[in-house]
Amino acid sequence: MKSNYLKIGKDTIQFINKALIENNISGKILYVADPFVDSIYGHVVRPQIEDIGTLKEEKCDGNTIAYSMSIAERCIATDVNCIVGLGGGRTLDVCKYASYVSKTPFLAIPTTASNDGLCSPIAVLKRKDGKPKSLGSATPSMAIIDTEVIANGPIQNIMAGLGDTISNYMALLDWEFAVSKGKDEMNGYAYLMSKCALGTLMQSHYTEICPELIEDLVNSLVMSGIAMDYAGSSRPVSGSEHLFSHALDYYGKTNNLHGIQVALGTVAVLKLIGFDQKPVIDYLKRFGVDINPSRLGISEDVFIYCMQHAVEMRANRYTYLHEADLSTKKLMEIYKEIVEEM
Ligand SMILES: [Zn+2]
Repeated sequence: MKSNYLKIGKDTIQFINKALIENNISGKILYVADPFVDSIYGHVVRPQIEDIGTLKEEKCDGNTIAYSMSIAERCIATDVNCIVGLGGGRTLDVCKYASYVSKTPFLAIPTTASNDGLCSPIAVLKRKDGKPKSLGSATPSMAIIDTEVIANGPIQNIMAGLGDTISNYMALLDWEFAVSKGKDEMNGYAYLMSKCALGTLMQSHYTEICPELIEDLVNSLVMSGIAMDYAGSSRPVSGSEHLFSHALDYYGKTNNLHGIQVALGTVAVLKLIGFDQKPVIDYLKRFGVDINPSRLGISEDVFIYCMQHAVEMRANRYTYLHEADLSTKKLMEIYKEIVEEM
């Protein structure tokens, strides 16, 4: 199921029936939506599906592996020909994994651009104990990203999307480092794609959140997803800064957006290894992305603990953190610096 329909721009939510027709979809179509988002955009989506086939519905009310599997089972047992997913990352990840397991084509309509999962081959779902788990999956075969819909969502989600893109900066450094240590292999195509995703925003001349910047952001996040697809893993866009964020999700009690946490991780690790942080800090300040840990409710103790335990989050993801000085004293200094500078 390779991607064969991608439309990004203003009012593209009107292209649902076109996407379905071009992909020869007919018969039963399962519309899976976040209830709140459905109350705003459902009236635009439903008639377009009804134009093409028989509308079946599922109100997405969870994001566990079991729930996603139950949707996969429904697709298999009742001969659903396509899943149309509308909502944020949680809803789309439920659909993505259900589509992958049941081999059902999937049209993703993201309503937020808070991370690069919107068109990636990875779904993050919850285990029985409530802990998140990244699951290998497939990139949505079709995606429609309406920049106006994204613009109407919470600004914090856009900030988080900007944060997830800057994490490519650290992820690429970590990847090169791992390769130099013989701990991983390079995939030049995926590397280039991730670098382009980063460049799209680092070189963007927009400084305020405007429609043009949102389009750059969406393009960047989609390119990051393609980089993952090329690499067959999240390696091109996920390094030590993501391990730190995973540790916060695992051990911390805060509830910050993923993109903000990985941006904080990027600055923290760059400081730790003594690399130039200026391009990253300039980028975050230019767009007003706030990563100050004290304002995010991340205490010094939690910050230190999660930096020290980040490498345990994922086997086979060798990074600078594996060889860095993770002493409490050093991490205390870094925490203090970030609180003061950001
Ligand atoms: Zn990410």
